[in-house]
Amino acid sequence: MSPRAAAALFCALAACAPRVREAEPARVELVAVGETAVRLAYEPRDAGSARRVAAALAKAVPVAERWGRLRVPVTIVLQPSHEALETAVHRQGYRWLRAWARYDTIDLQSPRTWNRFFGPSDGDLEELLAHELTHCVMYQQAGSTWSWPWLEIPLWFREGMASVTAGQGYRRVRPEMLHAFWARPLEGSGGGASGDGRGARQPPAGDPLADPEPLYQAQSDLVYGAAHLAFQFLLDRYGADRVRQVLAEMGEGHVFPAAFRHAIGISAAEFEAEFRRYVAWQDWSGR
Ligand SMILES: [Zn+2]
Repeated sequence: MSPRAAAALFCALAACAPRVREAEPARVELVAVGETAVRLAYEPRDAGSARRVAAALAKAVPVAERWGRLRVPVTIVLQPSHEALETAVHRQGYRWLRAWARYDTIDLQSPRTWNRFFGPSDGDLEELLAHELTHCVMYQQAGSTWSWPWLEIPLWFREGMASVTAGQGYRRVRPEMLHAFWARPLEGSGGGASGDGRGARQPPAGDPLADPEPLYQAQSDLVYGAAHLAFQFLLDRYGADRVRQVLAEMGEGHVFPAAFRHAIGISAAEFEAEFRRYVAWQDWSGR
């Protein structure tokens, strides 16, 4: 590769890669959970929240490491406000967002600021940290410091694994909601599709499984619900060892579509179709 091409490639990667934060908060400490070390970074005003996070890690780390060890120490940065969190993760207008995980960092909105009147319970914190740490475990098992964003892992697998591992099913939509979404009439369906294409039904933007991004901001409950249910279905049908094998195949250099096909035996698209049939054909009314 010529120096110019190498420079262009570096620039392209740098433009897309997660940006480095400008300034680290003032205090940094190391929390040991068994053989796993987690760094906590926070401003002095969040010292109380840091204590709660450190205590919650004792339960959250072993839950997340169900899928493998954290090979690289994770740094949890307590962001002092919701606005600071959105700035750090380059997402604006996501009021429901509380944390964002990357390969070896978690930006966490300080629990002090989650709610004006009462903060999260210890259980809420353990659950959220288990969810975010599961993302870090997944990225570290599947990729390297530079390759992890490029593995083509679909949102349903990323969020589903984190949600199921953290035991967040009780927060998610039930299958009948997903059934209703997929069974709803398409926009402009009044006259039905005509042979010459005029009046053809226009599918609305987004699908909670195959194309979640258009729904992510405004219908996050549907997107996370579909992810949770799809991953649970994968786990029930194919088992945890095959899921670990998906991660291992990516760790050996395959992108997700190839890793999934090798480990599970069918393509991700075929699996998604299986899951849709499962949701569509069940009678959810009596459950
Ligand atoms: Zn997540």
